[in-house]
Amino acid sequence: MATADPAPPERAGSLFDTELYHRIRTVAMGVLVVVAVAVLLMWPSITDYYSYNASYYNGIVASAAISAILTISLNLSMGYGGMLSMMHSGLQLAGGYATAYVVVKASGSWLLGVAASAAVGVLLAVLVLLVSLRATYLYFGMITLAANLIVIESGREWESVTGGIVGLSGVAPKLGDEPMSKQAFYYVVLAFLALAYVVQRNIVRSGVGRAAMAVRESSDTASAMGISPARAKLLLFGVCGGIAGVSGALYALQLGFINPDVGLLDNGIIFFVGLFLGGISTLIGPVIGVALIAVLVELIKDQARYTTLVLGVLLLVAMMVIPRGIVGTWRASRAGRDRVSDAGDDTLPDEVPDVVPEVRDAAPEVPAIEGVGLVKHFGGVHAVDGVDIRIMPGTVHGIIGPNGSGKSTLVSCLTRYHRLDSGKVMIFGEEAPAAPHRVAAAGVTRVFQVPHLFERVSVLDNVLTGMRMRESYTWLGATLRSSAYRRQDRAERAEARELLAFAGLASRADWPASSLSHGQKRLLEVVRAVATRPKVLILDEPATGLTSTELDALGRLCRVLRERGLAVVLIEHDVDFVMGLCDEITVVESGKVIERGDPERVQSSPAVLEAYLGRPELIEETA
Ligand code: ADP
Ligand code: MG
Repeated sequence: MATADPAPPERAGSLFDTELYHRIRTVAMGVLVVVAVAVLLMWPSITDYYSYNASYYNGIVASAAISAILTISLNLSMGYGGMLSMMHSGLQLAGGYATAYVVVKASGSWLLGVAASAAVGVLLAVLVLLVSLRATYLYFGMITLAANLIVIESGREWESVTGGIVGLSGVAPKLGDEPMSKQAFYYVVLAFLALAYVVQRNIVRSGVGRAAMAVRESSDTASAMGISPARAKLLLFGVCGGIAGVSGALYALQLGFINPDVGLLDNGIIFFVGLFLGGISTLIGPVIGVALIAVLVELIKDQARYTTLVLGVLLLVAMMVIPRGIVGTWRASRAGRDRVSDAGDDTLPDEVPDVVPEVRDAAPEVPAIEGVGLVKHFGGVHAVDGVDIRIMPGTVHGIIGPNGSGKSTLVSCLTRYHRLDSGKVMIFGEEAPAAPHRVAAAGVTRVFQVPHLFERVSVLDNVLTGMRMRESYTWLGATLRSSAYRRQDRAERAEARELLAFAGLASRADWPASSLSHGQKRLLEVVRAVATRPKVLILDEPATGLTSTELDALGRLCRVLRERGLAVVLIEHDVDFVMGLCDEITVVESGKVIERGDPERVQSSPAVLEAYLGRPELIEETA
């Protein structure tokens, strides 16, 4: 999931698609990384050797690294989490205060200060997120902007703790009883940068990151996979707050002081420019972006009053020329590689993968899901108007009816996406929980009528996202790559590939989902839903636009799921497909059930023929 925005592979045959070219690119990148790391590590010796002003040049790199840490945090929240944060300079300020307070006022150690800063950052971020859980993208931005102002203003007014307008100075790190040398502190900063990078990378590549990215793309879809949007956001933004707090701590320790001006949005501009220049939603983009800006600012330091202007123009040009930033553009240009390794079309394997487990825990006569007296009105529209429906385990249950008859709304009522006007929903004999993600956790997963894929990530990652509910590791486990995490991750990837193979998508696993055909996307959505290991799978018009091969794959999957004891609910227009597959069919019209029973009964029902008048193809079929 680390690759953001990979372009669909479309170019063929050019030099840039050859295996050799990509190998050279990979090697060149590797060399570049090694050189960059070596230079960073040896920087103090280099400056010492070549310049009388070594500590000045060390300071520049250390400051850039501190900015990079903050930009990584911004990238996690804005890029991967889709949360527009205008409070990052405020988080840095708060972090700076925490360390300054611990070191100057409480005479504590600087490490304790850093820990306190992280804690303050987490706390602040979590608080802000809690009050804005329901806010949309823009409103969230405004709330964080307000929070930023509050932090700055508190800094100015709360003199006893923050030192007021003047701030706190004398924030110096110590090693034992001695002040730490600037050189030693340089390495401390580098270590924290490496740490922030690793935290970002490990979270983004784990289920924790996938959950947050799923919520970014669509919180409805995330809920259908049992992901709690609130929890996913809280977790990610909390981590962002912690990282930003640490950056604030290092800032105060590096400069020796902290004052309210640090939190001003003007000072936060550099993080945004760095992020967009380097590449939002890429792992290394923020670091590269900030590094480039640091170099640039240094080059024009004699004309310092133009710095803001130059940064503004740079941001504008970057957005126009390389909207994905440097790293994003580089990545996209590499996407042609996929064509080289394309194995061509898949043939469907005969073996049913074990990864679809049997559902045998319920009594067969208890409905898997049941709606009693369901009513849902939208103003004057009686979308669902007193529907009773029982769906038994181990069956495929069709829901048919003309367009606008309330099929999708009925399903949204069953899965609790809609608040019911009246009626109740039972899942395996127990009252259904109220939130959609809890319904998914109870074993009922749905696929929406409108495609809801995560287009920007790989096919495999889409399937992995469906497994979030079963992942037992914590964000810390993912960050530290605990053995439990690695074991689970390996098993999940293998399972996801098996599922993809069964649906004929194996050779597409590493492609961006956006590169699939319409039919493949629909199938992938079904596979992703199956990956949640549901007991009830609800498919809203999955067959629309499928080729006959894809239709076969879908039908096959539905039959296998039925054999394994699942209840499959199929809303469908393709009459042949429905009649050939379903054990039981419910026909709705204008929000009411007009017929139910096995396919034969439904096909010969006068009420159904009546409802479908004006659809001659169906009448012929049923005649
Ligand atoms: P179907 O899936 O059978 O085509 P729907 O359940 O989508 O039908 O829609 C049933 C009726 O409810 C339609 O008249 C539709 O316009 C209306 N409807 C569905 N969702 C909403 C909504 N969120 N707000 C207002 N009206 C809606
Ligand atoms: Mg519909």
